[in-house]
Amino acid sequence: MTDTAVSTRHVPADLPTRIQHYIDGEFVDSLDGDTFDVLEPVSNEVYLQAASGKKADIDRAVAAAKKAFDEGPWPRMLPRERSRVLHRIADIVESRDERLAELESFDSGLPIAQALGQARRAAENFRFFADLIVAQADDTFKVPGRQINYVNRKPIGVAGLITPWNTPFMLESWKLGPALATGNTVVLKPAEFTPLSASLWAGIFEEAGLPKGVFNLVNGFGEEGFAGDSLVKHPDVPLISFTGESRTGQIIFGNAAPFLKGLSMELGGKSPAIVFADADLDAAIDATIFGVFSLNGERCTAGSRILVERSIYDEFVERYAAQAKRVKVGYPHEADTEVGALVHPEHYDKVMSYVEIGKQEARLVAGGGRPKGFPEGNFVAPTVFADVKPDARIFQEEIFGPVVAVTPFDSDEEALELANGVKYGLAAYVWTNDLKRAHNFAQAIDAGMVWLNSNNVRDLRTPFGGVKASGLGHEGGYRSIDFYTEQQAVHITL
Ligand code: NAD
Repeated sequence: MTDTAVSTRHVPADLPTRIQHYIDGEFVDSLDGDTFDVLEPVSNEVYLQAASGKKADIDRAVAAAKKAFDEGPWPRMLPRERSRVLHRIADIVESRDERLAELESFDSGLPIAQALGQARRAAENFRFFADLIVAQADDTFKVPGRQINYVNRKPIGVAGLITPWNTPFMLESWKLGPALATGNTVVLKPAEFTPLSASLWAGIFEEAGLPKGVFNLVNGFGEEGFAGDSLVKHPDVPLISFTGESRTGQIIFGNAAPFLKGLSMELGGKSPAIVFADADLDAAIDATIFGVFSLNGERCTAGSRILVERSIYDEFVERYAAQAKRVKVGYPHEADTEVGALVHPEHYDKVMSYVEIGKQEARLVAGGGRPKGFPEGNFVAPTVFADVKPDARIFQEEIFGPVVAVTPFDSDEEALELANGVKYGLAAYVWTNDLKRAHNFAQAIDAGMVWLNSNNVRDLRTPFGGVKASGLGHEGGYRSIDFYTEQQAVHITL
């Protein structure tokens, strides 16, 4: 790890100083004129004002989206026609990937190289759903001489999309792509910490030829009376796709219940990486370092608990701590930065409070605070705690930063008990050269996604989602198409 800062902050050219909502094809302020401050994570200086949406702004946006759904061309277009628009969106995003990465990195503190990867992933999400909607085949069932049954797939209406601040642009694309591909209209409420990249969607969509009113964006907070809460409680929004904290997911569940809305919930995680003694240790160490320190550790699928078989535990901890100390903390805009600045001072304080809790609960073997040479901004040194007990808060609670808990185990049974012994169940990573054990362990583990001897690399066709407190429902491939469409069964007697 580098101890000294080598560069000062970088401010992108033509940075906006205010961000508005985008409703019915127009950029507009909040009806009450209210705005909120947006901070830059490297200095925590306020660099822009964003419009703060309330119920009245959501009402306007939903009305525009509903009109575009009820009367506009988008839901009625052939899949191929919508697909062409989505491909154009992907082309535009791809052609602007460096600018997008620059803005995202500035706004969120993500290392620029990783932000670039996320921008390209956003383009790929649009391309993927553009292809999928054209290839879509629906079921037909025939009872010879008696009946034919077929499925009519229909867009549902106005989809409310509520997204978090980690990899914001990419996560928005993950919802926008399938919601639009299937013919719905949308109101997006991006995270209040990181509104910058979301403000680019309107221009991209206009240029690609998306009809007016199909995409609407309202910035602001989530709480009661503000944009997020008002979107969830709007009677003309039958679908809410939410990604964020489990606690927020619970509140949204409650608020959506009276309306019986369709809900997709991608929530928090505390995912285990289980390293058996027979694993390829070099590969396991590289992958588990990447698994928790990439994206600043602000990653829902981070392998933030590493369970290591006792016979290799001491060697693993020593090598892992040494490698964590070599992870390059740096300014987000520098090409070789591996861990940048956390998104916001509130989040920084939260992560730092867990670092202090960890010092009471376990053995600190790397990091443990602010890295040298970064006196201001939300920088946290990659932090490793060893000998973490399963009842420790740093074992149980999602920290969402560059902090990892390492715990030894003696048997497969104990490894499974430790892996499953938290309220979350999003991802799991298993490292072993025993094929049988790998598959049996994957089957037994409480996780929506398991990677065997692999980093977190996803095929977009596979289901994405968690079990237990990590979520309900799945996104990805046809699961996203299912969420955003009604499947009407039509029965014909012969
Ligand atoms: P958060 O729950 O605080 O906020 C997420 C979004 O919900 C924001 O846009 C926020 O304004 C809005 N919101 C807050 N309260 C609301 C309410 N009552 N009604 C409607 N909207 C409301 O989450 P965050 O801190 O932005 O994101 C980090 C969390 O997201 C972590 O827990 C992380 O694990 C999770 N996450 C999960 C996935 C996944 O796919 N499972 C992916 C990324 C992030």
